[in-house]
Amino acid sequence: MVSMEERDLKYIWHPCSQMKDYEELPPIVIDRGKGVWLYDIHGKKYLDIVSSWWCNLLGHCNNEINAGIKAQLDKLEHVIFANFSHEPAIHLAEELAQIVPKGLTKFHFSDNGSASVECALKMCFQYFLQTGKPEKKRFMCLSEGYHGETIGALSVGSMDLYAKMYEPLMMDNIHIEAPDCYRCPYGKCRDNCSCECFSYAEKAFADHAHETAAMIVEPLLQGSAGMRVYPPLYLKKLRALCNQQDVLLICDEIATGFGRTGKMFACDHAGISPDIMCISKGLTGGYLPMSITVTTQTLYDAFYADYSEGKAFLHSHTYSGNPLGCAAALAVQKIFHTQPILENACKNASWLTKRFHEEFAAHPNVGEIRHIGLIHAIELVKDREHKIDFSPEKRIGYEIYKRALNRGLVLRPLDNVLYFNPALNITRDELDIALELTKASINEILPC
Ligand code: PMP
Repeated sequence: MVSMEERDLKYIWHPCSQMKDYEELPPIVIDRGKGVWLYDIHGKKYLDIVSSWWCNLLGHCNNEINAGIKAQLDKLEHVIFANFSHEPAIHLAEELAQIVPKGLTKFHFSDNGSASVECALKMCFQYFLQTGKPEKKRFMCLSEGYHGETIGALSVGSMDLYAKMYEPLMMDNIHIEAPDCYRCPYGKCRDNCSCECFSYAEKAFADHAHETAAMIVEPLLQGSAGMRVYPPLYLKKLRALCNQQDVLLICDEIATGFGRTGKMFACDHAGISPDIMCISKGLTGGYLPMSITVTTQTLYDAFYADYSEGKAFLHSHTYSGNPLGCAAALAVQKIFHTQPILENACKNASWLTKRFHEEFAAHPNVGEIRHIGLIHAIELVKDREHKIDFSPEKRIGYEIYKRALNRGLVLRPLDNVLYFNPALNITRDELDIALELTKASINEILPC
């Protein structure tokens, strides 16, 4: 009989994969999920410590989110969102308006993270076009940044792994050296520096602010770059510089939003408000594809005019404002209101930091342990003293990933950075299991 795995590989081209790898490691066909656990069709269970590409916020098959979607399903599955609306979207916007950073008041819906970034870029460009500064049409971004895979989003990203090949297709953006706290060029440490590395941004603004519409950042956490954490002070300085130089600030909170960093949004650590914030992933608890580009009244007003002036934002996605996604997002908000999710996640985060140090700090290949909220990462290096990487051909992270899978842990590394980014309601017992399986998998590849 043809196996499910063979049937999969006959037709399916999986995302972000070298499909030849599947010859050795066929796809794991998941049958069901509950909490942080996934169960495959052969009955094996896996602990989802990366919350399925960082989106599953409150566990798989969460009873409350399921109920919210089911109730909506019998009323309305979808409706065109131009000229039409529905209660779940209206209610969701009202709820989110209470929790987003101050000044963000307008909600433009799309259906995935990259789309919300595209939307933000187009809004910024058009804002300056319509306010008498058409020369401001470029974008600034940080090295090692990641904002999605569509051409616009990719070109404000700086990760060669995903972007380099497509360079001929990209916009001509200004890439600024990002904070790199593990290998700080100033020899400082993230907990007590003055963000000396902000000088790179100052130089770029001095040269290019006059032609720049917006600067886009992943606030405090460059996720795809290997969970690189940088200080809130950097963000504060950036907000001030953007204000001073009339450059809009876009904060991509797609990965960091909804409690991942220990506060509702990463911006909250710095006490700043961006001009635009992109949210997705945890928005629906990771259930349904939905994103929102949230912006200010000032930006919105620049598009508000008689139709004949041609100032409208004529950007749409078929599934904008999908009612099922809104119902899921409303259920997530209700859970935040009625359960101490963030408080518990913060307590567990401090406990987890201690446990990470106990379990991993002594290993000679652990270069750095870094963390923010429940997100904890280990950067593995060949030579700890000199912070020298393993050569990429060794695929150390991938080898550990395979060992972890054998043991029942979904630990999908970013190169040689292993990380936990679990559902916020994971228990300490489950975290302990993940620690034990991670340690055993590392030791299998890198015995100490
Ligand atoms: N921005 C950030 C910070 C992300 O982490 C991601 C996805 N990992 C995206 C944008 C793109 O989102 P999507 O995959 O939904 O297009």
